[in-house]
Amino acid sequence: MGKGFFKVPKAVNEPVKGYAPGSPERKAVLEVYKELWNTKVDVPLYIGKEEIRTGNTTEMYPPHDHKHLLGTYHNADKGLVEKAIEEALKAREKWANLPWEERAAVFLKAADLIAGPYRAKMNAATMIAQSKTVHQAEIDSACELIDFLRFNVEFMANIYNDQPNSSEGVWNRVEYRPLEGFVYAVTPFNFTAISGNLPTSAALMGNVVVWKPSASQVFSANVIVEVLRKAGLPAGVINVVNGDARMVTEVLLASPHFAGIHFTGSTGVFQSIWKQIGDNIHKYRTYPKIVGETGGKDFIIAHPSADAQEVATAITRGAFEFQGQKCSAASRVYLPKSKADAILALVKKDVESFKMGSPEDMSNFITAVINKTAFDKLASYIDQAKKDKEASILVGGGYDCSKGWFIEPTVIVTTNPKYTTMETELFGPVVTVYVYEDAQWSETLKLVDETSEYALTGAVFADCRYAIDEAVKALANAAGNFYVNDKPTGAVVGQQPFGGARASGTNDKAGSAQNLLRWVSPRLIKETFVSPTDYRYPFLG
Ligand code: NAD
Repeated sequence: MGKGFFKVPKAVNEPVKGYAPGSPERKAVLEVYKELWNTKVDVPLYIGKEEIRTGNTTEMYPPHDHKHLLGTYHNADKGLVEKAIEEALKAREKWANLPWEERAAVFLKAADLIAGPYRAKMNAATMIAQSKTVHQAEIDSACELIDFLRFNVEFMANIYNDQPNSSEGVWNRVEYRPLEGFVYAVTPFNFTAISGNLPTSAALMGNVVVWKPSASQVFSANVIVEVLRKAGLPAGVINVVNGDARMVTEVLLASPHFAGIHFTGSTGVFQSIWKQIGDNIHKYRTYPKIVGETGGKDFIIAHPSADAQEVATAITRGAFEFQGQKCSAASRVYLPKSKADAILALVKKDVESFKMGSPEDMSNFITAVINKTAFDKLASYIDQAKKDKEASILVGGGYDCSKGWFIEPTVIVTTNPKYTTMETELFGPVVTVYVYEDAQWSETLKLVDETSEYALTGAVFADCRYAIDEAVKALANAAGNFYVNDKPTGAVVGQQPFGGARASGTNDKAGSAQNLLRWVSPRLIKETFVSPTDYRYPFLG
C-alpha cells in the first residue's frame, strides 16, 4: 500500500442536464449524433494491447431506422476468447498489486471524462444504439455511469477501512484480495451504465476481466472502451470480446482460472450459465462468485385511498419510459374498482398524448424497441390479447416495422389476474391492469406476491398508513426495491441500491459496497509481536 491513508473525493450524484431547446448540451449532443450517424465505425476486439479485426463481422443498425448501417463489429473465434483469458491473466499481477489509489484514479478520471468531454458522445451513442430519448440517455449513459464509477471508489475505500479489532500484543489486518483468476462480465442491451459498471466494478477491486457486451449495445459499449483507454486503464485489465454468446461463455466457463461472473440479463440465460458453472465446478482453482441481476415482472398496486392522478402518472412513466425496456418497468397493475375508471382515463389521456419516433427529434417521448426479436414477441402478445376474451386493449395495440421497431405503448385490461401478460416478462411498452374489488385489498396483496416468479421492483400507492404498513409486510419478499407512493423505476446509485431476489437475481445490489464485496477474497493477517516460547498453559500447573 502507499504512503498515506488517502481520502477519496466525496461522491455526489451527477446532476441531470435538461436538454431544453436552445441549451448548449442539446446543441452538443445533436452535433455528435449527426456525426456518429454519418460515420461508419469498425469495432475491433480489445485483447491485451491489441485491437483485433477478424474479418468475421456483424453489421449494426439503430432500432428506430433498421436500414441505416452504423458500422460493423468483429467477432471472436474460440482461439481469441482463449487469448483474452491469457492476456487477462498476464495483466493480473501488476494490476492487482498496483496501489489502490492508482486504480481508483483511473476510474475517477473515467467518470470526469464522461461528465465532461465525452458526455455528448456517450449520450448520442446510446440514443442511436438503444433508441433512447436524450433524457433516458442522460440518466443512464451519463449520470448513472458517472455515479457508479465515483460511488464505487468511495465504497471501495469504506471496505478497505473495515478492519478487525486487535487485542494486546497482536495486530489483525484484513486485506481485500482480488479473486484468483479472471472475472467474466456479461452485459445487457438496455443500460449503458450497467454495461460500464459490470466490468469496471470488478476491475476497481483489482480483478482482471473479460467482458462480453450485448450484441445490441456494441456501438455504445465501444465508447466506454474509448473512455477507459483515455483514462489510462492498462492493457489487459478489461478485455472485450464480441461474438457468439454461447461459444464465448462456454470457453470462458471452461477455464480453471474462471473466478467469478458479473451478469445482468434475462433469467433463462443466467440459469443456463449457473448450470454450466455447476457442471464445470471440479475444474476451477477456486469457487467462482456468481452474481446475476435478471428479469422482472414489476408491479404497482393502488389502495382505494390512493390519489388517482399520482397512480396514473406512475403508470405512464413507470411502464413506458424507454419503451418499458427497463428491468424495473411496471408491467402489472392492480387497481381498486372504486378508482379504476378514473385512473385508467388519465392513463389513456397520457398515452394518447405520447409522440413516437426517432430520438433525434426531441419532442418524441417514445422510440423503437431494441430489435426484430423483441418487436415480433411484443406484436404476438398484443395480437393474442386482441383475440382473448379475458383481455381488452384500453389504448395502443398498434405496431409498425416499416422504418424502425415501433410498438405503440399499450394498456391491456384483464379480468384474469393470472392472465399471461400479468405473469410473463415482455420487456416492452405493454402494461396489463387487473381491477380488484375494494374489499379484497388483503387478498390482492397475496395475489401480487404469488403471481410472478420474479421479485425485482414494486410499488404501493395509498394515503392510508395502515394500508401502506400492510403492503410493506405482505410484499416483503415480492421486490428487492420497493416503492411507497412512487413509480418502481429510476433507482439512483448511492441512494437506492438496486437488485431483486427470487428469479430476479442474486440481489447483490449494483451500486453498493455489497456488490464490491463479491469481487474480493479477504485475507486475514494476524501478527503476534512477542511470540510465546513455552507451550505450557498456566492451568497445567
Ligand atoms: P439477454 O439475457 O438476452 O442478454 C444478456 C447478455 O447475455 C448479453 O450479453 C447476451 O449476449 C448474453 N447471452 C445471451 N444468450 C446467452 C447464452 N446462451 N449464454 C451466455 N450469454 C448469453 O438480456 P437482454 O435482452 O440484453 O436484457 C434484458 C433482460 O435483462 C431482461 O430480462 C431484464 O429484466 C434484464 N435486466 C435486469 C436488470 C436487473 O438489474 N435485474 C437490469 C437490466 C436488465
